[in-house]
Amino acid sequence: MISHELRTLLNAILGYCDLLLEEAFGSLSEEQAHSLRRIRSNARTLLELMTAVLDVNRLEAGQPPVALTEVEVSRVLQELQVEAQEAYQRSGLDFRWEVEGKPVPIRTDPEKLKVVLRNLLSNAVKFTPQGSIKVQASPKSGGVEVRVSDTGIGIPPEAVAVIFEPFRQVEHSGMSPSGGTGLGLYIVKQILDLLGGTITVDSEVGRGSTFCVWVPQGKTPRKARPASARGTGRHRQERSARRRPHSQG
Ligand code: ADP
Repeated sequence: MISHELRTLLNAILGYCDLLLEEAFGSLSEEQAHSLRRIRSNARTLLELMTAVLDVNRLEAGQPPVALTEVEVSRVLQELQVEAQEAYQRSGLDFRWEVEGKPVPIRTDPEKLKVVLRNLLSNAVKFTPQGSIKVQASPKSGGVEVRVSDTGIGIPPEAVAVIFEPFRQVEHSGMSPSGGTGLGLYIVKQILDLLGGTITVDSEVGRGSTFCVWVPQGKTPRKARPASARGTGRHRQERSARRRPHSQG
């Protein structure tokens, strides 16, 4: 209830900021508009942070309900594609969506899977000043793998191990702080734990990143697959959603 109240109040603040900025109540000086934009931007960050903290609380407080149902990952991707077209149309990035192999119906929680992929997509957009973002799904090892690749700024090898910890953000040289909460990937990892899935990262500074999510066809939780099974020349880090990452750096 409290979280609902807080969100309602913040949404009202944001709504009034928008109205003022649209000059619905009269024209604004540049100074007034600038101040309002700052209020709006901070209110948005606060809303984002609060939502993330509440999600983490819910996840850490025990097993949140998992609504298992039979889904085609291609359908989940179609829905995300529609959302992304709307949300990121101004990004100037080239989006590609590919589904490979025969469709495999899986038993999972589609809404939670969407939260995972939305987080990865929003990061990909945030950290890709120009270029493309590719989302690929294919059947793999008794489940389905979804890869979200970007041609963005990449992640230094020493940081890959910590980005799944709460409130960890990487300082990217030449880029101003991204805003964000540092909770997105932590939430992703917690959700994948619930779904019995895994996540891996393959990244190179200046060339881009690929986040690779695997979810099982059934609901049985799995342990991490060995990183060596999937190595490439690029830096790769494999994490079981179950394992607590050890701190580095
Ligand atoms: P947030 O995005 O809110 O900062 P996350 O937990 O989602 O928090 O991500 C943690 C950090 O990992 C980010 O701050 C960023 O430094 C790094 N990161 C995540 N995704 C990417 C990506 N696609 N490209 C480059 N860096 C990334």
